[in-house]
Amino acid sequence: MTFMPDKETEELSILYANRSAALNHLQQYEDVLEDIRKCISLGYPRHLRYKVFERRARTLLVLKRNQEAISAFQDTITALDEANKFDKEKRQKMRTDSKLMLEILNKGLTLAGNPKDPEPLKRKPPKPKLPGKNNREYPAASDAIQIDYEESRGRFATATRDIKVGEMLLVEKPHSGVLLAEYSKTHCQHCFVKCPILVPCPKCPNVIFCSEKCLEAAQKSYHAYECHIVPLLWKSGCSVTCFIALRMITQNKKEYFTKIVSELDSKSSGVYKTDDYKNIYNLVSHEDKRTKQDFLHRTQMAAFLVKLLEVSGYFEGKPRSKPVDFDEIKSMAVDDKHKNDLALFGGLILKNLQVLQFNAHEVFELQCPRPKPGKNIIKHTGKSVFLAGAVFPTLALFNHSCEPSVVRYFCGPYIIIRAVKNINKGEEVSENYGPIFTTVPKEKRQAELKEQYWFDCNCIPCKDNWPTYQEMTENYMRFK
Ligand SMILES: [Zn+2]
Ligand SMILES: [Zn+2]
Ligand SMILES: [Zn+2]
Repeated sequence: MTFMPDKETEELSILYANRSAALNHLQQYEDVLEDIRKCISLGYPRHLRYKVFERRARTLLVLKRNQEAISAFQDTITALDEANKFDKEKRQKMRTDSKLMLEILNKGLTLAGNPKDPEPLKRKPPKPKLPGKNNREYPAASDAIQIDYEESRGRFATATRDIKVGEMLLVEKPHSGVLLAEYSKTHCQHCFVKCPILVPCPKCPNVIFCSEKCLEAAQKSYHAYECHIVPLLWKSGCSVTCFIALRMITQNKKEYFTKIVSELDSKSSGVYKTDDYKNIYNLVSHEDKRTKQDFLHRTQMAAFLVKLLEVSGYFEGKPRSKPVDFDEIKSMAVDDKHKNDLALFGGLILKNLQVLQFNAHEVFELQCPRPKPGKNIIKHTGKSVFLAGAVFPTLALFNHSCEPSVVRYFCGPYIIIRAVKNINKGEEVSENYGPIFTTVPKEKRQAELKEQYWFDCNCIPCKDNWPTYQEMTENYMRFK
C-alpha cells in the first residue's frame, strides 16, 4: 500500500477490501469497517461490492450495532443485483440469508423498543489528563508547579505545595517532533505510535500514519511540504535534531513567521503555550558562548535546510508534487526571488539548531517480549527504544539534577512527568538530562553535562560527593 505509485485507484480499493477480510479473521472489527469505508470511497468494482457490504453487515452484528447492520444488509441485497459474475445459486442463497437477517433484526429491534446502537469503540487511549488543576500560566503543567527565574539559574520549576510521590505533574505534546527514519514504515509519522494497520500517504511512499486523523493533520501542516524532501534529509545523514529544526518551520505557514518575526526577541507575556514558536525561540541557546567554528558548522546545515525549503515549494506556499531531482540541489544557492526568505528562514533555522542542542528530548517506546502464560509480567525483560526526537517547551524549563525528582514516559506523542519522590513545598522540581548519581560517578556526570549542555552541575549529589550504588559501603547504608 505504501509503495503504490498512484493511490487513488481501483487497485488500492481491492487491497483495502482484501485487508478488511484479513482483519475480520483477526477479529479487529473496527478496523474492518474503516477499510471497507475506504475501499468503497476509492471506487471498488460494483460487481464485487456485495462481498464487502455483507462483511460490513456481519461485522456490525458482532459489534451489536444492529441499526447500522440493517442498512448494511439492505446494501448487500441491492449490490447482489449487480453481481453478474457471481454464481447464480450462491447469489440466491446470499440474498435469502440477507433477507432473513433483515427480518430477524427488524423484529428484534421492535421488541426491544428500537434502542440506539452502541457508540463505535475508541481505538486510541484517551489523551492523558492531569489529575488536579492546570497551572494558569503554564497549562501543560499542574498547579503544583510554578516556574521561577534567577539570573544565574535561568528558569526552573518549584513546588507550590507538598507533592506526593507518583503525582502527575506535566502532560505535554511536543511543539515539534520527528520520527527516526528507521521507524518510518512501522510507526505513525505524526503521533509515533506503532501501527501494524497502516494508512499510507496518498502522495509519497516515504511515511505511514496510524489513522486518517493523523494523516490529515500532517498533510495540513508539515507533510505537505516534506513529502518529497524526506528522502533527501534521510540520505544526507543529518541528525534528527536538524530535521526537527526544519519541522519547526514546515509545520507553520510562511505567513505565520513573517507576522511574528518582529516580536520574537521581546519577552513573552500571557499564557505559555506549547504551540507558540516564540516560546521555543526564547529557550536557552548560549549564542554568546559559541565559537566561530560552531556557527560555521550550523550555518552550513541551515543553508542546506533552507535549500530544501525552497525546493519543497514552502516559500511559494505551493507544495511540490514530484520527487526532487538531484540536479535541483547541486548548488545550495537560493533563487534571487527568495532572497528575503533566505535571510528570514536561514536565521530562524540557525536559531532552532542552537536551541535544540540543549532542549530536545528523546521519545522512546518500551518494547517487551510477549509474556509467557503463567510468568510474572512485572519482571519483564523490556527495553526502552529511541523512536523520535522532540521539543517540549514547558518541560524544557525544568533544570537538571543528578538525583531527579521526576520521571518521564510517553503516551503516544504526549510526554508525562510524575514525581518519583515526595517533594516539599518550595523545593526545586528537577528532571534528569542523562547521567544519574546512582550509576554514573561524579567526574563522568560532570564531564558529560559540560560537554553536552555546557554547565557545571551543582546538584546535591555533586556538591556532597554522593557515592554510586556500587561504591556504597555499610557506613553509607546506615539509615536513621
Ligand atoms: Zn498517529
Ligand atoms: Zn507524503
Ligand atoms: Zn549533579
